[in-house]
Formats: sequence, structure tokens, C-alpha cells
Amino acid sequence: MEIKKKDIRALTKEQLRDFFENQGDKAFRGNQVYEWLWQKSAHTFEDMTNVSKETRQMLKANFVINHIKVDTMQRSSDGTVKNAVRLHDGLIVESVLIPTKTRTTACVSSQVGCSLDCKFCATARLKRMRNLNPDEIYDQVVAIDNESRLYHNRPLSNIVFMGMGEPLMNYNNVIKAIDKITSSEGLGMSPKRIVVSTSGVPKMIKKMADDDVKFKLAVSLHSAIDEVRTSIMPFNATFPLNDLREALQYWYAKTKNRITYEYVVWDGINDNRKDVDALVEFCKFAPSKVNLIEYNPIDDGEFQQANSKAIDLYVKILEHNNITVTVRRSRGKDIDAACGQLANKS
Ligand code: SF4
Repeated sequence: MEIKKKDIRALTKEQLRDFFENQGDKAFRGNQVYEWLWQKSAHTFEDMTNVSKETRQMLKANFVINHIKVDTMQRSSDGTVKNAVRLHDGLIVESVLIPTKTRTTACVSSQVGCSLDCKFCATARLKRMRNLNPDEIYDQVVAIDNESRLYHNRPLSNIVFMGMGEPLMNYNNVIKAIDKITSSEGLGMSPKRIVVSTSGVPKMIKKMADDDVKFKLAVSLHSAIDEVRTSIMPFNATFPLNDLREALQYWYAKTKNRITYEYVVWDGINDNRKDVDALVEFCKFAPSKVNLIEYNPIDDGEFQQANSKAIDLYVKILEHNNITVTVRRSRGKDIDAACGQLANKS
């Protein structure tokens, strides 16, 4: 019977050093291999050219490197790139490179499918199959960094966890991936350039505050009225707005970081004055920023972007109440890479 080999990237640096010591080798060999695995993103043991052939063979006999593979890559007319990424077990997730004049942002996935059921989201139609491992999240970022250098002549500048899945439902692996992304032994990116976007899991928002994380938080709010929010994000019935607000108050008290809300205005759903007033009221407890995001209809067209009059009303009233507001045009629409469109269709 063939023994299933362990993914070497599941080992910490210390465990790798111990492994070499137990093999009668020098512990520093673990550092060398660790550097190949993370900083240099080696895909195979053969790539590790400063490691002896015998050691590489010994590693190959004991471990595998479960590297992701970019199965298909699509480029939009606006420069957006969408990767369909194949995982070691054949499952597929998507990640997106979003270029603007001043930055290139990676939008990465944290789960295969999603266990939540937001009515407007294409990913919600895929069953949640499993959480991504830290290395699978890290590899998506590396692949997009390479594409950013290739197509835009600059390294990746920002990361948003806004792809497939609810990142706070895969908290431990997301944190481990961010640790690697920000570590000097990984990509060395500043945590301030990373945004974890959640649909709002109160318990996990409090945990993030307790863990003293350094990255930024964004909340997909879309309505500050329980009834409306539950109709478009049914899990709101379990985690109602009061619980969410209380968790965000806790977050703000601990971190003093401004809270960003992602918000889509839909025709006939949340485009009335009462919706705007509720949002203003909800934002009051802490410095807030609202990103009004353009919506990209998914197949059945049940949700349609509200007209510009409704958007203007939101902007006017939010500004009047000293709440920072931006209107975000969506990108990569022609390749289904825009917000809420990731559904493994490529
Ligand atoms: S919007 Fe996010 S949390 Fe909601 S179903 Fe889609 S991927 Fe999941």
C-alpha cells in the first residue's frame, strides 16, 4: 500500500529543522529548504539547487509540495486578470488581479465555494467543499504577483480577501497565510496593504481584535435594516445587525482602526431614503468609510444595480453626515471577474 506523503509546507520552520536533525543532518538545512518553499516558491524539490541531490531525493521520498496550478488565465480589456487555480485535489478556485493607475490588487479566495448564502453572489451557488490551506492562499498571491510584474511591470501592492468564501470561516488558515505573506521569510508585504473582507461574523471579528491583527477589516454590509439584510444575506437572521455592531464596537475600541463598509445599492431593495438613514445611523459609533460598489448582475438578473439618482442620494447624505464615501466602478466584467461574479465558469 502506498503511504500518503505529507505536504512539506504544512511544517513550521522549527519542525523542518527538527526533521533534518532527526535525519542526522544539520538543523540549518531546514532553514535552506524553508527559504526555497516560501521565499523562492519552489514548485519541486529539484528546484532547490543549493541542496545536495541526496537530500532532495530524501525529501522527495518523504514529502510532496502541493503547489497550486493556474489552469486558465483570462485577461480583460481593462487589464484585469482572472486565474482559475487548480488545487492538488483537483478542486478549483478563482483569484483576480485588479490594476489601477496607482496600485495592483490581488483578490484571493479563502474557501472552495462558500457556506453562506448571499442571494446576490455567484459563489453562493457553489457548495462549500473545503477550506483552503495557508499555502493555497499564499500561492494565489504569488501567482498574481508574478502576473503583475509581467503585465504591469510592478509588484503586487495590495491584497483583498474578497474572492470565493468567507475568510472568517477559515480564520486560522487565513491568519497563517497572512503571516507568511507579511513575513520577511515570505513576501514581506505590509499588513496595512491587506484587507480581510467579511460578511460579518461577530464572534470572529472580536477574536481578530483580541489577536491584535495588523491588517484592515472591511464588512460587506449592503443594508443596515435587519429585515432587508436577512432577505439578501440570510445568515443575518443568525448574526443580526445588533450583534455585528457590538462586535465592530469591540474591534474599534481595541484597534482604533476606521471601519470600511462594502455596500451595493440595488434597484427596489435598498435604494430608498430609509435605507440611507439606517446606514448613517449604523455608522455613527466609529469613524467609517463606505465603498459604494457597482454591481455586476449574475445570470438570473434578479438583482439590478440601482440608478445613479439613488447612488447620488447615498453620497449626498453620507457626506452630509461626515462619513467618507467612495463610488467604486467594478472591473473585469467581461471575464466574470468582478465582485460577486466568481463561480468557476471559465
Ligand atoms: S458574498 Fe462572500 S460570504 Fe456571501 S456567499 Fe458570496 S462568497 Fe460567501
